[in-house]
Amino acid sequence: MKGMEPDNGSCGPTLATIALQQHLGDRSSQPLEILRLRHEGTSRYAVQVEPQEPFAGGVDDHGDLGVEPRDLPGRVQATEPWHAEVQDYDARRCGVAEVQGLEAAAGRQNAVAALAFWARMASLHALEQTRRYSFWKRWLGQASPSADTIGRVCAQLELPGLREVLYGLYSRFRRNKVLARSHGESISLIIDGHESSASYRRHCPGCLQRKITIGGQEHVQYYHRSVMAQLQVGEVSFLLDMEPQLPHEDEVAAALRLFLRVAARLPRAFDIVLVDGLYARAEFFRTAIERGKDVVAVLKDDRRDLLQDALSLFAAIPPIREQEGSTERLMWDLDGFTSWEAMKRPVRVVRSLETTTWHAQANGCLQTRVADWVWVTTLSPSRVATPRLVALAHRRWAIENEGFNELVEHWHADHLFHHHPKAVQVFWLMVMMAHNLFHAFVSRQIKPALRVRHTCLHWASLIAADLHHCAPVEPWPLPP
Ligand SMILES: [Zn+2]
Repeated sequence: MKGMEPDNGSCGPTLATIALQQHLGDRSSQPLEILRLRHEGTSRYAVQVEPQEPFAGGVDDHGDLGVEPRDLPGRVQATEPWHAEVQDYDARRCGVAEVQGLEAAAGRQNAVAALAFWARMASLHALEQTRRYSFWKRWLGQASPSADTIGRVCAQLELPGLREVLYGLYSRFRRNKVLARSHGESISLIIDGHESSASYRRHCPGCLQRKITIGGQEHVQYYHRSVMAQLQVGEVSFLLDMEPQLPHEDEVAAALRLFLRVAARLPRAFDIVLVDGLYARAEFFRTAIERGKDVVAVLKDDRRDLLQDALSLFAAIPPIREQEGSTERLMWDLDGFTSWEAMKRPVRVVRSLETTTWHAQANGCLQTRVADWVWVTTLSPSRVATPRLVALAHRRWAIENEGFNELVEHWHADHLFHHHPKAVQVFWLMVMMAHNLFHAFVSRQIKPALRVRHTCLHWASLIAADLHHCAPVEPWPLPP
């Protein structure tokens, strides 16, 4: 076990340095022990680091798009930046200058890009403004790489390695009870797609295309869409993996690749898959069933026969009534529908008609909102009763609220830090790691009495403040 204690000077470990240690491991080539932090005051922390087994590799990379670092002399392993440093050392001993430069760049860019997310920076150019801060000197022994270098190296990292970091984080979180399931509780894997970075001019080989008519003229719009998998354990979310939607395929095809990878890598990590109406396809359902998973999907008009059958039968039976706060639910639940012929097995359909009332602040008038939800599922009524299934199905929104919305609004995940098919995935995977660690840190390591007094943005600001605390007195020279 190796300890790292803070001192009272400006060089003591700060939130920002701990963020780096949590994200990447310390610089002594030892992998990282996550979440062994103890709080000391409001902005200074101690961290202990102990060795762990290196993460296992070997996951197929289906989202590579064939972009290989073919013009580079070595493979950059993003999984273990400490390995990059070791290889850097070996390369220097062997006199392989190119390998040295490449691997060293990989280690540095990992550290720098990780902190960029922890400090919620909006671009690599914003990060570049901190190049001469003494923070980097302490961590890297030199100024941080330029924005161009970070972008270029990110375009050549190996994605399976980055994904293994996320899977390794998941395993560590389970062992440390960050993701602890209570007795009898199901763990859900929520899968959903997200579109980012639309442009009419700039594009890369990984861009999807669509035609948009503006003023009677047709334009080609380029954009990226990816599918993310988020584990939901009670109220705790964990962003597990992502897969890009490739040109000439639809979102469900990308989601199937993602699901198969997650199910092969972590076969016992979840019991139920929660998806929206787009995924109510026999192929997706059967793939999940074959791997021992149940599926809950929103039922829309795409499955018209099944939906109409269910609604007509529901009209003839009394609903189950439930009141939760200001929301009243009328629920119908029937099993054994065979109208979805492609499924080749009966399915269960559940409907929840939800009426929420509240008094408007402006005039005190009573307001009403009605939502009508219908789901199709493979879960049997004996396993999950109607009210619990409705609550479970609503947890699908966690991937919107705690996933995409937060990543986009507060972590700048939609920004194209470097427009390259592989770099886009690399930055998404890194922001997912940063998001997981940040929330584990806030929820598990900051004392409750202190945590309730501040928002997550407060802690993010402290991390950024620690970085800028070591800014040089003299400014950058202005450009000519
Ligand atoms: Zn692109």
